[in-house]
Amino acid sequence: MSLVTYVDLLIVGGGPAGLSAATAFSRLKRTCLLYDSGVYRNEGVKHAHLISGYEHCSPSDFRSKMKEDLLKYYSDTFEYRPGRITNLRKLDDQSKEWDFEAIDDQERLISAKKVVLATGLKDRLPDIQGVKEQWGKKIIHCIFCHGTETANAPFAFLLTKANAPMNPKLVESMLKLWRSLNHTDKYILTHGMDFETEQGRKDAGLEEKYDLIKKLGYKIISTPIRSITETVSQNALEIKFEDGKQIQVPAMLLFPEGFSANEHATSLLTEDFLEDKLAMFGTIAPPSKEMSMTGLPPRMGDDPRTNVHGLFWAGNSGSAFANVTISLAQGQNAAVMAGDQIGEEEMKKL
Ligand SMILES: Cc1cc2nc3c(=O)[nH]c(=O)nc-3n(C[C@H](O)[C@H](O)[C@H](O)COP(=O)(O)OP(=O)(O)OC[C@H]3O[C@@H](n4cnc5c(N)ncnc54)[C@H](O)[C@@H]3O)c2cc1C
Repeated sequence: MSLVTYVDLLIVGGGPAGLSAATAFSRLKRTCLLYDSGVYRNEGVKHAHLISGYEHCSPSDFRSKMKEDLLKYYSDTFEYRPGRITNLRKLDDQSKEWDFEAIDDQERLISAKKVVLATGLKDRLPDIQGVKEQWGKKIIHCIFCHGTETANAPFAFLLTKANAPMNPKLVESMLKLWRSLNHTDKYILTHGMDFETEQGRKDAGLEEKYDLIKKLGYKIISTPIRSITETVSQNALEIKFEDGKQIQVPAMLLFPEGFSANEHATSLLTEDFLEDKLAMFGTIAPPSKEMSMTGLPPRMGDDPRTNVHGLFWAGNSGSAFANVTISLAQGQNAAVMAGDQIGEEEMKKL
């Protein structure tokens, strides 16, 4: 094992949340080390939206720019390491200045006063041939991120049985938000949930709005999907069904069937270390209401603490619905709190 690196703040994760935390923390002229193992939630996405000033940018260019700025302006206190933290633990010894000890994939040891976990999330996709390959390309999940580009052309909404509790909400948003995109042919694909039966309509979330959906001309296809591939011209998706029929649409919506922690972070996000179970979306649980700053449960990141003193979360690791902009804000929030805690602890020793 080589020399120990001592830092004020260790940031695990080099997505928007981690890089933003590093930017804010660097403003304090305190030392900060960021690890980035290179697995991002929006991997494969060519153009991101909803990032003011960077509309239609490539997510990887966006991260590169943040990293470039960090190295340009803050390299006296900031260090970026490509690589993975494989082990993280809180030290019991209260007399020590460094509360956390981490080991990376090269067996290097890091001692940190505070830690921000900005480790992201992983989306669980339905097991349909071709979905994984098209995820974030022609198969999209959010109107604000990628919907606008699908306007005035055919479009399909995929509803799956695993999402039954969520489907009524998805159908509602299809009617409330997506309609203004004026899709020409509008398909609803229920992948085996038979819309001719009450149960099938319930599972697909169609029951309540069924008459309206029919009136608005949506074409519902219940036949299970066999495969989804890109056409030879690469302009559309070819969706093939079990009965041999097929349709072509330029793009399709699907909502993930679940979320779990980024695969590189599962060894760190243990109940033992976090002193809590992961929350329902595979995210780090917010601090208990008693210790919350406002006395209210955190909403989109107004409390970046965890149940472990000195350990913070930012971005999708603690907030499944955060987008890039919100992750940036959460990163800042976590860094500010970490700096504040260090300052307070130093003050007590003066
Ligand atoms: C298909 C798709 C399209 C999207 N499009 C948009 C869009 O257009 N606009 C928008 O605003 N949002 C979009 N989003 C949401 C956006 O991708 C996320 O909100 C954002 O990436 C979250 O940033 P993050 O920093 O929390 O996580 P991530 O960007 O996922 O970064 C996680 C980081 O943690 C690292 N990591 C994990 N474990 C370890 C470890 N043990 N050691 C070291 N590093 C580790 C990873 O390698 C990575 O660097 C999209 C999401 C998806 C799924």
